[in-house]
Amino acid sequence: MIVCKFGGTSVGDAPAIERTAAIVRGRLAERPVVVVSALAGTTNALLDIAAHAAKGQFIVAIRGIEALRERHLAVVDELLGAGEEAVEVAADVSVLFDELAHLTEALSVLGDASARSLDAVAAYGERLSSPIVAAAFEQRGIPAAWVDARRVMVTDGAFGKARPQGDAIAEAAREQLLPLVRDGRVPVLGGFIGATADGTTTTLGRGGSDYSAALFGAALDVAAIEIWTDVDGMLTADPRVIPGARLIEHIRFDEAAELASFGAKVLHPSTIAPAVQRSIPVFIYNSHRPQAAGTRITFDAPRLSVRAVAGRANVVLVNVKSSAMLGTPGVVRGIFSVFERFKLSVDVIATSEVSVSVTLDDDLHLDAVLNELRLFGDVTVQRGRGIVAVVGSGLGAHTPTMARALAALGDMRVHMCSLSASAINLTLIVDGDQVHEAMRRLHRAFFEEGA
Ligand code: ASP
Ligand code: MG
Repeated sequence: MIVCKFGGTSVGDAPAIERTAAIVRGRLAERPVVVVSALAGTTNALLDIAAHAAKGQFIVAIRGIEALRERHLAVVDELLGAGEEAVEVAADVSVLFDELAHLTEALSVLGDASARSLDAVAAYGERLSSPIVAAAFEQRGIPAAWVDARRVMVTDGAFGKARPQGDAIAEAAREQLLPLVRDGRVPVLGGFIGATADGTTTTLGRGGSDYSAALFGAALDVAAIEIWTDVDGMLTADPRVIPGARLIEHIRFDEAAELASFGAKVLHPSTIAPAVQRSIPVFIYNSHRPQAAGTRITFDAPRLSVRAVAGRANVVLVNVKSSAMLGTPGVVRGIFSVFERFKLSVDVIATSEVSVSVTLDDDLHLDAVLNELRLFGDVTVQRGRGIVAVVGSGLGAHTPTMARALAALGDMRVHMCSLSASAINLTLIVDGDQVHEAMRRLHRAFFEEGA
């Protein structure tokens, strides 16, 4: 058994759903469970509709609903033609839109949209896409069975970012999905949506479909989870900065997590943690190029000294210097308690006997923070810095790699440098406007010069 998850662009219109059907048909022997997002852009549109309704702009909201209705019905029409099946699906879709219109009217009367109402509205995206995809599959010879994801994805009542209840999900998945799969059917469910034990609709938070896929996969202990999207997988660098960036075919989970913290947009590893913790490999594939290799994420990919380079600008470097630190315990704790109090997350840290340097994301409270830090010593601030990182889990065991990274930067000014003991990430602080050039130099050194 495997889980195949298709994101919004993989079910965005009729041709995309057609491609998705072909991909699933090619995997029937692996007994897939299919998880789909809303049609691309739908969740944003739904949240806009709710916002307008809550402001009392009912007409604007209704116009938004009618545009979505037309779009979904056009997809049904294009995919299913004019037969009895098409008429039935179109009728179901229309009923959902009528419901949504009523709900929206209620919100506009109340002039308010609680987190609970927003979830109810946002859930329509996946409630609509999943039966359409299931019907399209069936018409193309895939024995699909639509399942209302809310009956399997049991969550708490933290609307907007509901927490999945693992045991209840495992039980529901065994009861409702396993028999279908054993019967040779292909369950099709919406991602992102769930319900509390008493049946109130919830969502897992934006982009939550990957999380759904991982949770269903973990519950069913599948052999693999496939995340189908519109890029080839994870790359050795951001292709907008480095057009020659290469596909990473196999990456460790911790490395992927490190890259995500630099904004690698493909998928956020925390969302697939439930699967990876059970040693279920996660694959990223491009639904536009199903034959391409894709990226495999596991716990135990072979350690490489460099897997990728990453970078980000708009970083502030703060340095606190004080001879009082010499041999005085607790000073560092005092400094960090300031960051904690202001809820600032520190990215990179370097210390010496008499100073502590940290980086922060450019932030609002900086002046207040600096005032408090002055209690501990001389504070200097460098704004407009950037971080470049060389990520690889074998990095720490290979000193020549570090030498090579520094050498690659050549005459570039490095303001700070840090390698943690887990040694998966060598971070270098450079001038903000040099981040891209630094990434290019590092990428050239490690990936383009026959490295
Ligand atoms: N449709 C939801 C969103 O756009 C969930 C997802 O696509 O992962 O946030
Ligand atoms: Mg998505």
